[in-house]
Parts: sequence; structure tokens; C-alpha cells
Amino acid sequence: MLDTTTVGSLPKPDYLAETEKLWPAWRLAGQALERAKERAAVEWLRHQEAADIHILTAGEQHRIHFVHGFLEHLEGIDWAKKTPMGIRDNRYTVDVPTVTGPVSRPRPVHLDEVGFTRAQTDRRLKFTLPGPMTICDTIANAHYASRADMAMAFADILNTEARELETAGIDLIQFDEPAFNVFMKDVKEWGIAALHRAIDGLSCTTAVHICYGYGIDENLRWKETLGREWRQYEEIFPALNASRIDQVSLECADSHVPPSLMRLLKDKGLMVGVVAVTRDREETPGEVAATIRSALAHVAPERLYPCTNCGMAPLPYNLALKKIRSLAAGTALVKKTL
Ligand code: ZN
Repeated sequence: MLDTTTVGSLPKPDYLAETEKLWPAWRLAGQALERAKERAAVEWLRHQEAADIHILTAGEQHRIHFVHGFLEHLEGIDWAKKTPMGIRDNRYTVDVPTVTGPVSRPRPVHLDEVGFTRAQTDRRLKFTLPGPMTICDTIANAHYASRADMAMAFADILNTEARELETAGIDLIQFDEPAFNVFMKDVKEWGIAALHRAIDGLSCTTAVHICYGYGIDENLRWKETLGREWRQYEEIFPALNASRIDQVSLECADSHVPPSLMRLLKDKGLMVGVVAVTRDREETPGEVAATIRSALAHVAPERLYPCTNCGMAPLPYNLALKKIRSLAAGTALVKKTL
């Protein structure tokens, strides 16, 4: 019970890429870059083992961005045809590439890196993939009849990829869907259907990560407009509880999400964010323990996975490391009293 994990992305060390950026540039190229990615992945696995985190990730050290790092390996996308797009319902504008033909995956995307990381640890290993709806909100569509149609095409590709990663020894595949918190009507109309297509035939644990975004200025300003109680999850949790996804993540640390909304996910594992991803400071173990206890009023400990609120990629490296240690230490405090 109370198995700890992180959402997925972790800061890249400065020998690998620019630091504290969402879209950093690599510092190296060719074989030197590949070796540096592996070195960084092993470092983060060792940090998590030393802190006694239970379900590990390699921190997405092999990709620059959680969506485009996957898309850059596909065909049907024109990277030179950049379209300015107000993503996450105009929260921020990014020049995104454009889908100009049927999308396909000519070869496995992450299989080699998973083969490497799987051999580095005996602990349970999680792998994160972008969710179909979030992909469609991070790329322009100049080919498919609708966003829903495009999502289904990406879901088929994700499914092929996920099946291979499961065979390579991944224990948990998580789809990142920050867009689920923005397009709540679409979630019910086609978002969950696309996720079901992405997990079809998998026997490993599956999860969906839904959040209020990285701790960047655009998201902090957006959160200030959401009022005293954040009830976005309330619209989609009943449908997610009825879905075939095993685990759902939600923000809880330093957040205005009412913890009682966790009761809407009574049949799911809950990755509860007990560590914020803003850059001011790390939580104390006591603060982490208090957030876990507030969740335990609504969720049995067997279903509760203490986690970070979101990815920590844009944070300073040492701050993310301290947050991982607090996550583990705060969870240990609660376990002692259960
Ligand atoms: Zn997130």
C-alpha cells in the first residue's frame, strides 16, 4: 500500500540539454548524445531507488518534449509547416507542426531506450506516452475530417507502440492527457474511446495522467482564473471510473481540487499528487504526509499511489531531487501510523 511514483518527466542534467526549459536544445549529437541520455536515465533511476520510490521512470531523458518527442518519429507530419496554435484552449501559443497525410509509425519509437532502462533496475518501471487527445491539441490538423478521427489514428499507433513496450518489460504504461482537464465534453464523446483503443490488448497496468499543467507562468496565471474550488475533474471522473483504465492521476498538493472528488473514482487506483511542480521550494515530509492523510479520508491506502502533481521537467535538477526525497519520506511517515 501507498506505493510511490512520479508522473514521469524529470529535469535533464546540464551535460545533456539546456536546463529549466520546456523545449530545451540538446547539448550533444550522434553517439555522444545517445550515451548522455543513457547516463542521465541511469542517474534518475538510482536517485529514485536511493529515495525508495516504488514505481520508477527514466524521467523522459531520451526525448525533448513529452508530445513532440514521440511525434518526431512518425510519418504524415510536416515539421516545416508550422502553424501557430493556442493550445490547451488558448492557454499558451506554440508554433506546432502540421498533419498533412495519414499518420504512421515506420519503426518502433521507444523500444531501444526501454530495452536499456529495463536492464538497469529490478523495480517496477513505468513508461509514459502522450495521450491521443493531448497529441491532437499539440499539432495542427490539415488532413483528417475531425480531431476525433485524428485521435483514433494516433491511438492505433500508440497501441502498437504500447504493446511492444509491455513485451519489453514495462510494468505500467501511462498516457498523459492534460487536455482532459480542458475539453471535458470531448473526453466523454471520444477522448476515453481513443484511450481504450490505445490500451487495447494490454495486460500491464494502464494509467491516465490529468493535471493542471507544469509549474510555468502560463499555467499559474490560468489557475488564478479557476476560482476557489477546482471542479474540472468532477465532469470527467465518473466516465473515467467506468472506463477500462486502471489508474487515474490528479493534483492534490497546493491545489484547490476538493479531495472529496476522489470518491468519484471508487474503482480505480489513484495517483495522488502530493508534491507540487512549482519552483519555489520542496515540500517538507510533514507537508507530504498531511496531503496523503487528506486523501486517505476518501481513498483506501491500497488504491492510493503518492505521486507528483505533474512532470518536473522544467524544474531545477536539485529541486526535483529534493521533491522526490520528500515524497518518499512523507509517505514513510504515513505508513508508520497505518
Ligand atoms: Zn501534467
